[in-house]
Amino acid sequence: TVLYRLDKWGKDYFSINESGNIKVSPTGPEGDSLDLMVLVKELNSRNLKSPLLLRFDDILEDRIKKLHGAFKNAISHYEYEGEYKGVFPIKCNQQRHVVEEIVTCSREWHFGLEAGSKAELLIALSLLDDPEALLICNGYKDKRYIETSILARQLGRKPIVVIEQLDEVDRIINATKKIGSAPFIGIRAKLSSQSSGRWSNSIGEKSKFGLSIPEISQAVQQLKDAGLLKELILLHFHIGSQINDIAVLKNALQEASHIYIELKRLGAPMGHLDVGGGLGIDYDGSRTATQASTNYSLQNYANDVVATIQECCKENQVQVPTLVSENGRAVSSHFSILVFNVLGTSSIPSDTRATTEHECLSVQNLRQTLRSLSEEPHNIGVDISRLQEAWNDALKFKEDALAAFRLGYIGLEERAKAEQLTWACAKALAVKLPKDTLIPEELNALNAALAETYYANISIFRSAPDTWAIGQLFPIMPIHRLNEKPTQLGHFADLTCDSDGKLSKFIDNGQAKSLIELHRLNSNEDYLIGMFLGGAYQEVMGNLHNLFGSTNSIHIRMAKNGGYKLDHVIRGDTKAEVLNAMEHDSEQLLERLRIASESAIQQGKLKINDAQRLIEHVETSLRQSTYLQE
Ligand code: PLP
Repeated sequence: TVLYRLDKWGKDYFSINESGNIKVSPTGPEGDSLDLMVLVKELNSRNLKSPLLLRFDDILEDRIKKLHGAFKNAISHYEYEGEYKGVFPIKCNQQRHVVEEIVTCSREWHFGLEAGSKAELLIALSLLDDPEALLICNGYKDKRYIETSILARQLGRKPIVVIEQLDEVDRIINATKKIGSAPFIGIRAKLSSQSSGRWSNSIGEKSKFGLSIPEISQAVQQLKDAGLLKELILLHFHIGSQINDIAVLKNALQEASHIYIELKRLGAPMGHLDVGGGLGIDYDGSRTATQASTNYSLQNYANDVVATIQECCKENQVQVPTLVSENGRAVSSHFSILVFNVLGTSSIPSDTRATTEHECLSVQNLRQTLRSLSEEPHNIGVDISRLQEAWNDALKFKEDALAAFRLGYIGLEERAKAEQLTWACAKALAVKLPKDTLIPEELNALNAALAETYYANISIFRSAPDTWAIGQLFPIMPIHRLNEKPTQLGHFADLTCDSDGKLSKFIDNGQAKSLIELHRLNSNEDYLIGMFLGGAYQEVMGNLHNLFGSTNSIHIRMAKNGGYKLDHVIRGDTKAEVLNAMEHDSEQLLERLRIASESAIQQGKLKINDAQRLIEHVETSLRQSTYLQE
């Protein structure tokens, strides 16, 4: 069977059970587990229909635990004389229930938050009440942002205002004078080390954020003159999300450590070195330095951070700092699974139509190709090169027919015959292959021709925007029928009227492929597909393209008795809500329709009963999800 490399990318939390369904083990392979298919059915019985965003909060907690565990191991292994204090970058997933869950389940480690905007600062201020947890204040900062951070420090929180642009220094000095109290200050450095991967432009002299070395010395001088250097306690850098190659991080760590040491020499107390985010995810299970993977593990990452910084500090007889990291993707990717149903598939027209007199040469040739294929015995001595040749012939004859049509030599009928005969050849070729086998690689063009489109009840613009925006690869696979051989190749088209609205990048052996092995639909049951590892940056960055709103989201926790409980059910947007988001008033919309149907009744075009039925349909529809139901 095809297992979609689940044992590689999913090994920590996902596997397949005896029923051929996905098994979720939210606290790791040894812990309690549940059958994903059974869970979805039970949610359906509670009228929670697909698409569903399932959030396993135990997985979220486990990821935070693993992150802290990795740093704890590294600190003890290298006898590092400092501590680790992580923060979660809110931008990765700002949903209230998610941030609340992170803050609640991570208290024992004093895990903090990172805010990148004023709105995120407000979330952090209201949720993070642990005085030992850090609140890293990043992003563009105006007067109010800085003043709020100063006041939050007075409130007993630990906000650190990270200078990302030189003009923020003046603003910090002015705000301090105005309030009569200073903020904790950090500086973000623009490193010169080279990065790699999709987000490599987050580093280097031309990067959007951070101070260059001359700017850092200017900022230090300004802070010194204003008597604020004593508040400079943190150096920050971020070399981009999804670091694929650990070597890139090592270089950056060395450079940053030396800047840290210099800042101490210049008289700043320092004490914290914040290595930013970037800890990558092994989306394709290949464990290589490719875009969808990383050539290191979480433990390798923690070891390198601890060892490199320690080495630089030791050489320079500088006390080691508290280590801070801002890992969003690594913390929040695993815990959510998007489950969607397939509404139907495209079908391939292959009716061969009766032979008529005076058929054009291309059609005659296609008939001949089809005949020769039908005459060859089934499944005996499958000669791939022979099949390949027949398929190439069919494609050539079809091309001839299309050219003849373009030039006006043949009509619609002949062209239709040519197309249908080509499909018939493709099907005849497929039948020649051993039963229950997908077409071999050698016949790639045939693969593509026979692939079907599976219509998915989602909007990728809402639920998986990175698949469209940056071609990101996520593990996608059926969540059931996994002990049954898939016999069809396909890709997914979403509900939007946008040809970019598709999922056509799937995990292959360390690379991506455009088609995935799928099952034929059964008439009596939903075919359910899961998109995994999408808990970071996806639904929160999604948009309302074609007015498809949020999906139902459900927070699930394993219960003590071995079952599960639904901690939160967050209903997806209704149509009224998405219309209102675009300033359409649903009441006004209904009223306009009522007036139009009254006038149609007056003119005898519409019966009263039908007018009432129309209004009721619209009223009900406004209250319902934006996705397709029965
Ligand atoms: N910190 C900063 C400043 C960022 O810009 C980002 C995102 O790119 C992060 C942290 C989170 O990065 P990641 O999700 O890769 O851990």
